[in-house]
Formats: sequence, structure tokens, C-alpha cells
Amino acid sequence: MPTNPVLVVHGGAWAIPDDMVEAHLNGVRNAAAAGWRVLERGGSALDAVEEAVVVLEDDETFDAGRGSFLNRDGKVQLDAFIMDGSTLRGGGVGCVERLRHPVRAARKILSDSPHVYFVAEGAERFAAEHGIALCRNEDLVIPREVERLREYQAQASNHGNDLFAPTISHDTVGAVALDRDGNIAASTSTGGTLNKAPGRLGDSSLIGCGCYADNLSAAASTTGWGEPIMKLVLAKWAADRVESGSLPEWVAKEAMNYLKQRLNGHGGIILLDAQGRFGIAHNTPRMAWALQTVQKQEAGITRNG
Ligand code: ASP
Repeated sequence: MPTNPVLVVHGGAWAIPDDMVEAHLNGVRNAAAAGWRVLERGGSALDAVEEAVVVLEDDETFDAGRGSFLNRDGKVQLDAFIMDGSTLRGGGVGCVERLRHPVRAARKILSDSPHVYFVAEGAERFAAEHGIALCRNEDLVIPREVERLREYQAQASNHGNDLFAPTISHDTVGAVALDRDGNIAASTSTGGTLNKAPGRLGDSSLIGCGCYADNLSAAASTTGWGEPIMKLVLAKWAADRVESGSLPEWVAKEAMNYLKQRLNGHGGIILLDAQGRFGIAHNTPRMAWALQTVQKQEAGITRNG
């Protein structure tokens, strides 16, 4: 019997200001619609998460693709990962500067390469050799981010650790999906953190940290302050708990408590198992997400506290 598909997407977890709520809601709704079109016609969870993430990478609201945060040198440097829960194949790119849709390159790595990761120029070369057009880094930079970096660098001495406060934007994007055949998949894409050192890789594209999928456990995508998430290998941590029998809804909350208690980290997670049970949780003031099932379509900016 075919499984009822489920799709969950997120557009970051942080103190999303009131005047940015609408843009975030539109973005996650559009992404969910794109992913759902794939699932509705019987397409795979893998294709669905890829299409959902492409929409979010195109949307300048988010820290992914064009419009991402700039690194210390004023460049966009992107990381992305995609994973197929039915085969455990994964594809990831890190520190790429000339790809509009890093998730497309990640998908090519998953499908057409025996490897899991390519970084920097090697990743761009792999993408170009596999038919993905390269852009200029300037094509990914928008005035809002030039100004944000300028302001940040001008006040850098006052910020201290504030760069990692939950009020600072964490607009990384991600998606998890379950298809009619009962397979799950996950993807995460990001521009990383503001003013990051060139070459810094975040959690988002690291397998088991910002993204993971295994039919036997769960599909997960995280957002937030990357270093603590990496240290806890949080996406795999959460998937393992689902495999041990806990419900994704509970595990997602536990993952956020663990992140806070163990390393004073902050962020958000979406989690989905092969039975279609899901969890959405964050320990930041707000998180943007959308959910689509056969019965309902919902999008929200949930609040904590
Ligand atoms: N986790 C991402 C990183 O550290 C940032 C984010 O989620 O906004 O690169």
C-alpha cells in the first residue's frame, strides 16, 4: 500500500523580526508547494527536498543562495547537503562561491559520484563538468548584505560573542520529506554565519550535524549556531533516538534541550520518520516552517517564551 507523503521545510530559527515574518512565511510556503508538487505526482522524497530547497535558495529572504550573509572578505560562501534515507547516499558541497543552487551540485554528487563531498573550486569544477552553470560571486551578493557586513565590521569591537546570540539571524534553510514508496530524505543549505572567516565550514553541510536521513531512523535538518550543533552531531543524535523508539515530536524538543544544556547552543530542527511522524522544535525566539500532508497545509512562525 502506498504511504501518504509528508513534507516539512524550515527557513531558519532566530528572533525573526515582525516586519520579516510575512517574507519568511511566503518563502516557506512556496518551498513547501514546490516540494509537494513532486510528491503529489509520485516523485521521490529526494527530488522533493531538492526542489523545496532550490526555492529557498532563490529567495533572498534567507541565508542560502543569493542574498546570503557575507564572509569577512565580503564574499558569499555556501554550504549544502542532501541525503537519501533509502540508500544512505549523500552529497555535499562546502565553501562554494559560484553556484546559485548549491543543493543542485550536492544532488549531482549524490547521484553521479562515488564520493560524498566536494569543496571550494573542486566542487565548482565538479558542478560545471556535470552541466551546472557557474555564476559570478557578485551575482550572489545583494546590497542588504553589503550594508549588514559594513555595519557589523564597523561595530565589531562592541559585539563580542553577540554574533552567536539567538537574536542574530539564522536563516539557513532545509527540508525533510517522505514519499509514496515510504522513503525519506533531507537537505540543508546555508550561507553560514555573518563575517565568517573564509573557508569556515558550518554544520549545515556536515553529514549527521546539520542534515541526515536514514529510512530506519529519521530525516533531520537543523539551523542555528553551527559549531555547537557540529560538536553534538545533532541531526544523527536525533535520528538515533527516533530509531530507539522515541517519537520525532518529543525527540526534536529533546535535541533543542540537549543543545542548550550541553553547550549553551541555540537553533531549530525538523525531524520526520518513515511513518510520517514529525517534530518541529527550536530554542530560539522564533522559527519559520511549513508542513504539507495529504490532509493539511500549514505554515508558521512559532514563538518560544
Ligand atoms: N548553522 C549555520 C552555520 O552555522 C547557520 C544558520 O543556521 O543560520 O553555518
